[in-house]
Amino acid sequence: MKILIVNAGSSSLKYQLIDMDGEKMIAKGLVERIGTGKPGHQKQSVGGKVIDIDGVMIDDHVQATQMMLKALQDPEKGAIRSMVEIGAVGHRVLHGGTKFSASVVVNEKVKDAIRECIPLGPLHNPANLMGIEACEKVMPDTPQVAVFDTAFHQTMPPKAFMYGVPKKYYEQYGVRKYGFHGTSHRYVSKRVCEFLGISPLGQRIIICHLGNGSSLSAVVDGKCVDTSMGLTPLDGLLMGTRCGTVDPAVVQFIANNENMTVDEVLSMMNKQSGLLGISGLSNDMRDVDAAADKYHGDAMLARDMLVYGIKKYIGSYAAAMGGVDMIVFTAGIGENNGPLRERIMSDMEWLGAKIDHARNMECVDGHATECVISTDDSKVKVLVIPTNEEIMIARDTLELVSK
Ligand code: ADP
Repeated sequence: MKILIVNAGSSSLKYQLIDMDGEKMIAKGLVERIGTGKPGHQKQSVGGKVIDIDGVMIDDHVQATQMMLKALQDPEKGAIRSMVEIGAVGHRVLHGGTKFSASVVVNEKVKDAIRECIPLGPLHNPANLMGIEACEKVMPDTPQVAVFDTAFHQTMPPKAFMYGVPKKYYEQYGVRKYGFHGTSHRYVSKRVCEFLGISPLGQRIIICHLGNGSSLSAVVDGKCVDTSMGLTPLDGLLMGTRCGTVDPAVVQFIANNENMTVDEVLSMMNKQSGLLGISGLSNDMRDVDAAADKYHGDAMLARDMLVYGIKKYIGSYAAAMGGVDMIVFTAGIGENNGPLRERIMSDMEWLGAKIDHARNMECVDGHATECVISTDDSKVKVLVIPTNEEIMIARDTLELVSK
């Protein structure tokens, strides 16, 4: 069966077509600048065949979905002859609140529940819904599945997910830690055990998903027990443009001094902070690294803050789990940035983790493969496992529609 994976943002639609016979990606595409009033753009690659369309006004997600299906069925550069070849569609949905701890087949009730989670994911959930409804409209006979970024973290115990504010805010509005990147944390924590040929039962794993957005999770017996992102993806580590954890009073302090609203401060914390805000150069770790290697003071500070933050999380999760058996790196930075992995894992012998320099440096700059990067005598295994959220979404979709 061929499964279409859709990731709808407020003004974009990213997609992949995966042939589940061998789990091969056969098409990958993007429609962007939807409904912005500016000319849109579409790009699709099928093997070496590329469709690149510029300058068409794209009014809404229904039109974007039609463009996606037209490109997929293009007689010369497409991947399928007819839409009926698409057996099901798997949608990435940001926020499932406490309503979803696993993926589900979409029906009216599911859409209502995604809608009810809009206050928790105000930017993404409306776009995810638009993607679902556009696909329903254009392919009414094809089953749709929703896969939630928050679902994997629903196994966290209350002591990990509650905030120390009056409990009525949790009861009234669902104010608590939810966590994100769940599909990646689930894929990597499962895959690392398959790769080593062991059962997840009895394993205490720390997953370091380090990309433009970054989060760590602590996984015991294959289940998430803690994660670094919170009610929103702003919490936790220093990221590309997000500040991560700060004293909440900082919001009021900056708002008062700069005459800014709370919304404006949070926007600054989401979009102008992190590596970008500290280095003053870039949100991309490659740029920060290049400058730091030339002794640019603020780039060195940004890198030191990132490394120090990750070290502290690893230490705290090891303490929370009563030890750690594996530390796994994934996503853009985690998979490609060997020197940064080495900085994070330096002086971690006390924890029983020792990196093998040569093994670690084989896995860099676009050469990420599944590999062990710790020494043979390291008590804690340290690994790189490239993430694959699309495959996870496709597998869930296949499983649910085959029932
Ligand atoms: P997103 O969270 O947007 O999915 P990614 O997982 O692609 O982001 O991660 C982006 C980060 O990964 C950037 O900071 C970039 O420096 C780093 N990165 C991506 N590819 C490489 C590479 N080939 N070599 C080194 N760093 C990389």
